[in-house]
Amino acid sequence: MEKTLIFGHKNPDTDSITSSIVMEHLERKLGNNEVKAYKLGKVNKETEFVLNYFKVAEPETLESIEEKANVILVDHNTFSQSIDGIEKANILKVIDHHCITGFETANPLFYMAEPVGCTETILYGLYKQHDVEIDKTIAGLMLSAIISDTLLFKSPTCTEKDVQIAKELAKIAEIDIETYGMEMLKAGTDLSDFSPEEIINIDSKKMEANGVNMQVAQVNTASIEEVLKDQDKLENVMQAFMKENGINLFVLLITDIVNSNSEAIVLGDRTDIAEKGFNKKIENNRMFLEGVVSRKKQVFPILIEFAK
Ligand code: MG
Ligand code: MG
Ligand code: MG
Repeated sequence: MEKTLIFGHKNPDTDSITSSIVMEHLERKLGNNEVKAYKLGKVNKETEFVLNYFKVAEPETLESIEEKANVILVDHNTFSQSIDGIEKANILKVIDHHCITGFETANPLFYMAEPVGCTETILYGLYKQHDVEIDKTIAGLMLSAIISDTLLFKSPTCTEKDVQIAKELAKIAEIDIETYGMEMLKAGTDLSDFSPEEIINIDSKKMEANGVNMQVAQVNTASIEEVLKDQDKLENVMQAFMKENGINLFVLLITDIVNSNSEAIVLGDRTDIAEKGFNKKIENNRMFLEGVVSRKKQVFPILIEFAK
């Protein structure tokens, strides 16, 4: 049998990386040994912390795929967030918790979507459904992704199901959620190794609506001021990125994980969309977004609605 490649989105986060690893593990348990987890780019500091903590190897980077390659997508479905050439691949399965957009296949497939806070919450259900044991390592990886995607249950994307499953997983992994979670999230705020160009690409997603190309990147921090020290440099690389990729609106969310707010750097020829959507004036290319931590629930829906 041909190999099946499993991967999450570009600019991978902890959910994309761990869900690929966990999905490979599940497939093998179900008898499909011709599977392999990959990543579509450099792992961030938070994910690095998680993999070190549970002593799990980083997946290899997938540089390209062949036509008709068998693939399983986790934590994304939108083609622009996937590997180049994905439209010609044979997508066997999708396990995801995002809105479905920019996605179509030539063949029938297994598609599992649930409006929960994390892909791992859906994978937990699949383990239960198939009666596959969740060991300590797998539990630790799943739990880490839930903490990451829900910002320790504080994001509006977090559901009761995510919380309940996280508690179950914490028991198996023998981990104190609060202590471990804060340590893990803090690890992700270490930007010391990253150039401004890399910072805007750590966690960046593109969305198109009514012909407007919008890019929303997010960085977590314990100090917004610290990140803003480099505002000029960040703006320069954002401008260059927009020019190269034909982006009309670039929002960089600098999210304070302690107080659950975001400061946004907003650039482009369609900044009016952000001003109207959030009902705020941009000053010094910035706006403060009180209580905003989720790009998926609190930013993209608003930008899409006001992109006219
Ligand atoms: Mg993700
Ligand atoms: Mg996710
Ligand atoms: Mg995320």
